[in-house]
Amino acid sequence: MSDCIFCKIADGEIPSATLYEDEDFRVILDLGPANKGHALILPKQHYANLYEIPDELAGKGMVLAKKIITRMRDVLGCDGYNVVQNNGEAAGQTVFHFHIHLIPRSVGDNAGI
Ligand code: 5GP
Ligand code: ZN
Repeated sequence: MSDCIFCKIADGEIPSATLYEDEDFRVILDLGPANKGHALILPKQHYANLYEIPDELAGKGMVLAKKIITRMRDVLGCDGYNVVQNNGEAAGQTVFHFHIHLIPRSVGDNAGI
């Protein structure tokens, strides 16, 4: 989609702080982090939400979430992780290109979304 900011970030047209990239996904740091190390998994293809993304790609996205939080837990030394995925304005979605939030948490940090 030509007017989608996450399409432009995912395909590298707009530079971003990229933690990981493969043929299907780019993982970036969130511009307005809920906590230090808040990252977003973006598919390179445009799908507005979980209703639209193909099952296989949604599955790959969750496996990638597992890999990243497992590795980053050790790097950041955090106590836990929120894996969050919003669908629709009513649910708090503000960018209508599917994404998975990865939010590192420490005991008592009050950083959840
Ligand atoms: P949503 O509310 O749609 O689930 O999450 C959108 C997220 O994207 C928010 O956490 C917001 O801070 C982040 N965000 C919005 N625009 C940009 C951007 O241009 N770059 C990056 N890295 N994050 C963005
Ligand atoms: Zn898009």
